[in-house]
Amino acid sequence: MATKTKTVKYVYSFGGGKADGNESMKNLLGGKGANLAEMAGHPKLRLPVPPGYTLTTEVCTHYYQNKKKYPAQLAAQAEKALAAVEKEMGKKFGDPINPLLVSVRSGARKSMPGMMETVLDIGLNEKTIEGVIQQSGDARFAYDAYRRLIMMYADVVMEKAGGIEPKGGKGIRKVLDEKLEKVKHTKGYQFDTDITVDELKALVKDFKATIIKVLGKPFPEDPQEQLWGSIGAVFSSWMGKRAIEYRRIENIPDEWGTAVNVQAMVFGNMGDTSATGVAFTRNPGNGENKFYGEYLLNAQGEDVVAGIRTPAPVNDYSKNDQSKHLPTLQEIMPKVYKELFDIQKRLEVHYKDMQDIEFTIEKGTLYMLQCRVGKRNGVAAVRIASDMYNSKLIDAKTAVKRVAPNQLVELLLPMLDPEVQKVTKAIAKGLPAGPGGAKGRVVFSSNDAVEWASRGEKVILVREETSPEDVDGMHKSQAILTTKGGMTSHAALVARGWGKCCIVGCTDIEIHSETKSFKANDGTYIKEGDWLSLDGTKGLVYLGSMALVDIDLDKNLAYKNLMKLVDKVKVMGVRTNAETPGDAMQGFKFGAEGIGLFRTEHMFYGEGSDEPLFLLRKMIVSKTEKERREALNGLFKYVKKDIKETLEVMNGHPVTIRLLDPPLHEFVPHDKEKLKQLSKELGISMSILNRRVLALHENNPMLGHRGVRLGVSYPEITEMQIRAIFEATVELIKKGKKAMPEIMIPVTCGKHELSHQRAIVNTVYKETCEKMGVKKIPYLYGTMIEIPRAALKANSMAEEADFFSFGTNDLTQMSFGFSRDDIGGFLPKYLDLKLLPSDPFQTIDQSGVGELIKIGVERGRITKPNLKIGICGEHGGDPESVVFCHRIGMNYVSCSPFRVPIARLAAAHAAIDFPRKELKK
Ligand code: ADP
Ligand code: MG
Ligand code: MG
Repeated sequence: MATKTKTVKYVYSFGGGKADGNESMKNLLGGKGANLAEMAGHPKLRLPVPPGYTLTTEVCTHYYQNKKKYPAQLAAQAEKALAAVEKEMGKKFGDPINPLLVSVRSGARKSMPGMMETVLDIGLNEKTIEGVIQQSGDARFAYDAYRRLIMMYADVVMEKAGGIEPKGGKGIRKVLDEKLEKVKHTKGYQFDTDITVDELKALVKDFKATIIKVLGKPFPEDPQEQLWGSIGAVFSSWMGKRAIEYRRIENIPDEWGTAVNVQAMVFGNMGDTSATGVAFTRNPGNGENKFYGEYLLNAQGEDVVAGIRTPAPVNDYSKNDQSKHLPTLQEIMPKVYKELFDIQKRLEVHYKDMQDIEFTIEKGTLYMLQCRVGKRNGVAAVRIASDMYNSKLIDAKTAVKRVAPNQLVELLLPMLDPEVQKVTKAIAKGLPAGPGGAKGRVVFSSNDAVEWASRGEKVILVREETSPEDVDGMHKSQAILTTKGGMTSHAALVARGWGKCCIVGCTDIEIHSETKSFKANDGTYIKEGDWLSLDGTKGLVYLGSMALVDIDLDKNLAYKNLMKLVDKVKVMGVRTNAETPGDAMQGFKFGAEGIGLFRTEHMFYGEGSDEPLFLLRKMIVSKTEKERREALNGLFKYVKKDIKETLEVMNGHPVTIRLLDPPLHEFVPHDKEKLKQLSKELGISMSILNRRVLALHENNPMLGHRGVRLGVSYPEITEMQIRAIFEATVELIKKGKKAMPEIMIPVTCGKHELSHQRAIVNTVYKETCEKMGVKKIPYLYGTMIEIPRAALKANSMAEEADFFSFGTNDLTQMSFGFSRDDIGGFLPKYLDLKLLPSDPFQTIDQSGVGELIKIGVERGRITKPNLKIGICGEHGGDPESVVFCHRIGMNYVSCSPFRVPIARLAAAHAAIDFPRKELKK
C-alpha cells in the first residue's frame, strides 16, 4: 500500500506587513507567536515587528513523541522561512559581510514567566562579527552583543539543555557574570555600559576559554549549529524540572507543548539613541487609564527586568521614588515616544483589553517585540473593566467576566501595605481564613482581649482554637490567630462573617499559655503585648506593626458601576447569613437580596447575653413543662426583639429564620456561682440540679438532641419561637412596614418531623391572628437539608415544605463523616497527598456531596416544581460552589455579609458561562 505523507504546516512566518498566523491561533503558535503574527499582519495593525517565524507547538509534541526528533518536513519549511526573513532584512544569516542575527524565543499557550528560555544575537562568530562591525560602524556594540550571546548560549543551550549539573551549584552564567563584574570592579565602573570595546574583546576570549574548561566543549562557531542548538534548548526547556513543576501548580497539561519563535534581531544596545523597555497600556497597580512603563538606554533584552541599572520612566506618570530623577523617554525621544504612545492605544483598542508590551528602539527606530493581556490586581481589574465598559470598548458581559470573584476581596478590606510586605519575611504561615490585613498586640485569652481593648489597645487574639465563649474577645480583637482548626473552624467562620482578618491552623507556632508567649518555627519568640501583623488573605504572620492601606467602597465608583452590570447579568439571588440586625444591615449594604440564614442563638453569646442566657439555662435544666414554659416566657421578648429588628432592617426582603439548633449541653453552665444562682431561681437543691445537668450529657452531641429533635421533645420551644416570629411580623405590618419571614426547621431527616412541627405552626398562626386581629400573616415554612437522608427523601419532604435550604456545612460533615471542627488534624495530609482535590468545607465536593444536593433539588421539584431552593452553608460565598448552585437550578445562595459581592459576581459569571432560563429569585 502506498502511503502519502500529508504536508503539515510546521512553520508560520510573520513580518513585512503580513503574517501566516493570527491572534486566534494561540494553541498552535503559542501566545507570543500568535500575538507577533497579529501585530505584524493584521490589516488594522501592521506594526513595526522585526520579521521572523514560529515553529508550532505540534513540532514540540512531535519532538517528545519521537525520541526528540523533528518532523521530516521541518528543516525545509524553516529554511524557506529564514530566507524570507533574510530578504525582508536585506541581510544573510551567517554571512561575513552583512550578517543577519536572530533571537530564539519560547512561547507557550499560557505565559509561564521565567520558566522558559530565550537566546539573543544568534549568528555571531569570529567572522560575522567583522561584518556586524562594518555594517554598524560600532565595534563596542558588536562585542557587547557577542558576549551576551556567548553567555546565554552557554547557560541555556550547553549547560541547562545539555543536562550538565553545575559544579558546586554555581552555573556557567554566574561564572561568566563574575568575570564581567570583576572588570567593572577593578576599573571602578558603575554600569555594564562603561566597559570599553577592548575590555569586551578580552572578555569574549576569556568566556570562550572558560566554557571549554567548565563545560568541556567549545562555544560553536557555526551559525546553523547555534540556531538549531537554541531551538532544541527551548523545546527541552518544556520538560525542564522548573517548567514541569510550574505547570503542575498552574494546571497546564504537558501535552500542550511550547512553540519557538525565530526573529530577526533589532538592537537596543547601539548607543544612546537605542533603548529597550516594557510598558502597560494602563496602570496595572490601580487601573488608571494612563500609559505606564519603563525603559533603559543602550540595553538589550532582559536588562530592564534584571535590575542591572534602574530603569527610567517612559513619561512623568510612570515616575517612582527610585526613578524620579531620570529623564523620561518622552523628554529625550519625543517622536519615538509619540509613536509608541499611539501604538499602545491602537493595541488596546484592537485587543479590547489592557496590554503588557515589550519594545526596542534601534537608533531612533521603534520596534514592537511582544504584547499580551496584562496581569493586574483586583482594584485595577475592577477599574479597567468599568472604564472600558463606560467608553463602550467592551459590553456588560465582557466587563463582568474581566474580574475574578475573589479579586473583589482586595476591594473590601484594608490590607497590609504590599510594598512593605515585599521586603519583609513572614515568621509563620497558616490557613488564610479571613481576608485583609490587621495589626495589633498579642493577647492569649478572650478576657485579656476584652480588657486590653477597653483600654483602647489594638489586640490580636492568639489561641489554639476558639469556642463560642470567646466571641466577645474575638469581636474586640483586630484579628484572630489560631494554631488548630480548618477553614470552617469556629474562629474561621466567625471571622469571615465579620470580615475580620483571621489565620487558623497555623502549626508553625507553639503557644505556651503559662508564660503567655509563643514560639515560631523560625525561632521568633513572642510574648504578650508584642506587635504582630497578619495577612489573612495569604495566611502570613509578620513580626511588628506594618502599615495598613484602607479602601472605601462607597467612594469606589468603578466598583459600583461594575456591580450594577453584575446584577443585570446574574439570574440567581444572593442573600446573606446574619447573626444580628447589624450583620443584616452590613449584608444589605453589600447588595444582599434577603437573609438566607438567621441564627437566633447569637443572643446567648457576648454583650447583653447575661439575661437571655440565664433564661435559656433555666429552660434547659427545667424538669417539667411548667418550669420550662416559665423560662420560655421570659425568653420570648428577647427572641421577638431580635427577629423584629432583623425583619425591619430587611424591610420586606425574605428573612429565613432558623429555629433553635445547637445541642443543649453547649449552654449548660459549669461554674459554681452560676449553678448556685440557677438552683436558687428554680427552687431546687444543688444536688438535684447537678443530677439534671449530668442527665444532659451526650456522647455525641453533634448527632444528639438538637435541631428539630428539641422541638419534638419540647413542642413549647417551637411554639415560643413561632409566636415571636408571627407577632414581630404583625407588629411591623401594623406600623406600615413590610416583613417576610421564612421559618426554617433544622436537622430534619424526614417528612414526619416537618408535619409534626407544622401542626404547631398552624396552631400558633391561628392564635396570633385572633389575638392580634389580623386575617393573614405572610410567611413560608421550610427546612434545612443537612442530613444525607433528607436529600434522598426530598420528594416527600417537599410535600411539607415551601422551601429547602441546603446546609452544606453539616451536609458535608455527615456525608464524609469528617468532623468539621477536627479536620485540622488530617486534612492537610489529605490535600498534600491529593487524596482530596480541595477542602470540601470550602468548595463543594461536586462529585459526592454535590450529587446529594442535585438529588435533593430534582426530587424536591418533582413534588413541587416551584419549590424555592437555596444554600446557606459557607459554600454560598465560594465562587466555584456558586457556579455549581447556578447550574443545578438553585434560586439563591446565601453567605457571610463580606462574601456577598463575591457571590454576586460569581453568580453573574455563572449566568454568562452557563445560561439558564430565569427562575424566580
Ligand atoms: P520572555 O518570554 O521571558 O519575556 P522573550 O522571548 O520576550 O522572553 O525575550 C526576552 C527579551 O529579549 C525581550 O523582551 C526582548 O527585549 C529581547 N528580545 C527577544 N527577541 C528579540 C529580538 N528579535 N530583537 C531584540 N530583542 C529581542
Ligand atoms: Mg517577553
Ligand atoms: Mg446544621
